[in-house]
Amino acid sequence: MSAPPSNASNVKELLCELCRLFYQQGWVSGTGGGISIREGDRVTMAPSGVQKERLRPEDLFELDVDGRVLKAPEGNAKLSACAPLFFHAFELRDAGAVIHSHSMNAMLATLVFGDELRVTHLEMMKGIRGTGYHDELVVPILENTAHECDLADAMADAMRRYPKTFAVLVRRHGVYVWGRDWVEAKTHAECYDYLFEAAVKMKQLGFDPSSAPERNPE
Ligand SMILES: [Zn+2]
Repeated sequence: MSAPPSNASNVKELLCELCRLFYQQGWVSGTGGGISIREGDRVTMAPSGVQKERLRPEDLFELDVDGRVLKAPEGNAKLSACAPLFFHAFELRDAGAVIHSHSMNAMLATLVFGDELRVTHLEMMKGIRGTGYHDELVVPILENTAHECDLADAMADAMRRYPKTFAVLVRRHGVYVWGRDWVEAKTHAECYDYLFEAAVKMKQLGFDPSSAPERNPE
């Protein structure tokens, strides 16, 4: 995978390929999670409640940037319940792609931390745009709701309150991650997932992931 694709059928094939990759990572198993890619004023999105690893290009929705469906797949496919959350990232953060993951690492991180996850001095932080090794990376954690669409207002609020984050965790649920295009969104999703796992394991081992290490560890 290299440069972002330039036409609708390429985007659809790419989205299916990413779903297969993310399925292997356990991010979209059991029909959960999802991905959406925006190119210009055209948004491509996976349907709700389908096995993401078996998606075909003809199964995907095409929408405009205002959320109107331009092309729906045949049959009774339903638009993803995450759609309003994806659109917040497009509108408020100028995202080009959003990944919603039910990753175990993300879910466990929300059990270990309160309203925010904070880490510092981890090399993988450098994969998040604008973040250096010595910085503190902060990810807000929202409370889950019975229906995914009810998360939309809290998600928009978190995006405004944390202008440097490219991820919002949802308690006992997963994470939404975005980037300027699908390449950056994928990189961000992988780096954040690593950092969530690292933070949980560091806690288990008695390290505080939000503290800088001592200058000369023995
Ligand atoms: Zn979800």
